[in-house]
Amino acid sequence: MITIKSPREIELMRIAGNIVYETHKYLKPYIKEGITTKKLDELAEKFIRSKGATPSFKGYQGFPSTLCTSVNDEVVHGFPSNYKLKNGDIISIDIGACYKGYHGDSGWSYVVGNGSKDVDYLMEHTEKSLYEGIKLARAGNRVGDISNAIEVYANKHNLGIVRELCGHGVGTNLHEDPNVPNYGEKSTGPLLKPGMVIAIEPMLTFGDESIYEDDNGWTIKTNDGKNAAHFEHTVLITEGEPEILTGEWKNGKE
Ligand code: MG
Ligand code: MG
Repeated sequence: MITIKSPREIELMRIAGNIVYETHKYLKPYIKEGITTKKLDELAEKFIRSKGATPSFKGYQGFPSTLCTSVNDEVVHGFPSNYKLKNGDIISIDIGACYKGYHGDSGWSYVVGNGSKDVDYLMEHTEKSLYEGIKLARAGNRVGDISNAIEVYANKHNLGIVRELCGHGVGTNLHEDPNVPNYGEKSTGPLLKPGMVIAIEPMLTFGDESIYEDDNGWTIKTNDGKNAAHFEHTVLITEGEPEILTGEWKNGKE
């Protein structure tokens, strides 16, 4: 069932989304060569709690940490660890925060230090594919319109789509209906209505779309061992323009 949020619920989701956004901004200066992903996780948890919220992922179906930190060939659901970031790594940092029972969810990828041309290309176009999807997150459109826009954009840039995972509704549950796939046909799927809140989250690769799950039972990795990127925003469907609840966070800049 797809829930329509009341004005009060939307207000709480704006706060939750903003806490996620603030957490991304707070972490950004720390994403440097030598820091461990575990340290980033500790910083994020403290920050989220200082805002009166709780980390959405920690304990979710047994997930062990506040952040998903997915490095290089890890697509999503990476575990923070003692791994020290290296120059040229690509890291997706996915953050969820729950405020008074409502969740915000946003993932962002970063290059540590200097990236290669290829990595910069993957980053740029995965991020742009997210905004291609967001543009169509409007009342009267269907979920398939968002999915199709992401797919068309990825195809045009010769990037692969991780198809096993998708975006989702967000609310009192971190993952609600509808599923928001990153590929699909226009004018298909659930109708978008004002008051719906969805997370849109393309995960793109250099072409090979096949993935496997790590032995930890969570982390998704590319089969070819090449890098993947992931960008995600939580978006409110309104009568007009889509409202991004997790901040106008483009290219890691405000
Ligand atoms: Mg997320
Ligand atoms: Mg999500």
